[in-house]
Amino acid sequence: MQTAANLMPIPGHIDPVPVPRSFVPRSDGRIDLLGLSLADLRMALETSQLEEKQAKLRAKQLWHWIYNRGAIEFSAMTDISKTMHPWLEQRFVISRPNVVEAQVSTDGTRKWLLRSDDKQDYEMVFIPDADRGTLCVSSQVGCTLNCTFCHTGTMRLVRNLTPAEIVGQVMLARDSLGEWPSQPEGRMLTNIVMMGMGEPLYNFENVRDALKLVMDGAGLALSRRRITLSTSGVVPMMARAGAEIGVNLAVSLHAVTKEVRDEIVPLNRKYGIEELLQACADYPGTNNARRITFEYVMLKDKNDSDDDARELVRLLRKYELPAKVNLIPFNPWPGAQYECSTPERIKSFSSIVFGAGISAPVRTPRGRDIDAACGQLKTASEKKSRAQLDREAAAETDSAFV
Ligand code: SF4
Repeated sequence: MQTAANLMPIPGHIDPVPVPRSFVPRSDGRIDLLGLSLADLRMALETSQLEEKQAKLRAKQLWHWIYNRGAIEFSAMTDISKTMHPWLEQRFVISRPNVVEAQVSTDGTRKWLLRSDDKQDYEMVFIPDADRGTLCVSSQVGCTLNCTFCHTGTMRLVRNLTPAEIVGQVMLARDSLGEWPSQPEGRMLTNIVMMGMGEPLYNFENVRDALKLVMDGAGLALSRRRITLSTSGVVPMMARAGAEIGVNLAVSLHAVTKEVRDEIVPLNRKYGIEELLQACADYPGTNNARRITFEYVMLKDKNDSDDDARELVRLLRKYELPAKVNLIPFNPWPGAQYECSTPERIKSFSSIVFGAGISAPVRTPRGRDIDAACGQLKTASEKKSRAQLDREAAAETDSAFV
């Protein structure tokens, strides 16, 4: 159970979402080691009365088995004495997110619906390409930001994902691809994008801690250059993300005028376009070899004119941003108030940006048939109608009295 002592507010701004920290015992009293840093692993062992020197040694071994070898059973840990396995099993567990459903698209994209122990659903998507494989990772259950073109934005925020639930998505993908032990070469899972459900900078510490585990060269060992964090523009957290995580930055820009961006990315009312672009210019480590990606969803008659394209070029030049623009054809979902721009419009927009020397590829939508494409993630439980949820709740209440 979470108590006031193990809940921390999100740092520095806005969103008072409680964040479970460090190790909290599960309902069976055991501590989940997934998502713990080496220091936390050691502390978990010491808390269980293991002598200090032993705890230091065992923490190192456990860390290696968890993050480099993908072990989920203590009995597989051959360099830890057999007599110690039951001791570990009684006190600890190495979890994975529970898989509710796994779907494969006709184009090879895979989507997993995952469920936490407290019955919260979230999703992750794996997108294979000829020369790479990208895992799109969620950071929250739901989202507070309500971007009007995004299906996830129609969900309420339920809670932040913990480091275990975030790194657990990567571990699960590795399990599924058979990529243990961690190899430096020849992997299918080569890239990670924090672009699934949620705004990662509203769950800063958990995302940071999870990505540190993902980047550790002795464990999962994904280079920071192969990880991209996408934000809708939480300006006050961007400098901190650069300093403490240091991965590639993507920004959901989607519009170049205040009026339109205020509508489609409501966070713009708080942090405007110019403020956002200045924060991008200040983001450390960007250069022509490491550009900032600007995501731009193409919405018919909303943000797709030639004037919009020219304004985009002007803004990127004004802030001297080493930029790449990803043009995303809108993926409609039931009840969406927008349509996708025509292919001709997208082409014209793209050529204006390309003409100015800025790369502006049009992204091929992936996994549309399984609702895995950009902006389509919304968990099945949230898709149930209010009436259906009410019926289920009533049935549960009835059965409780039988
Ligand atoms: S685009 Fe991202 S930030 Fe906006 S509502 Fe969707 S998930 Fe949230």
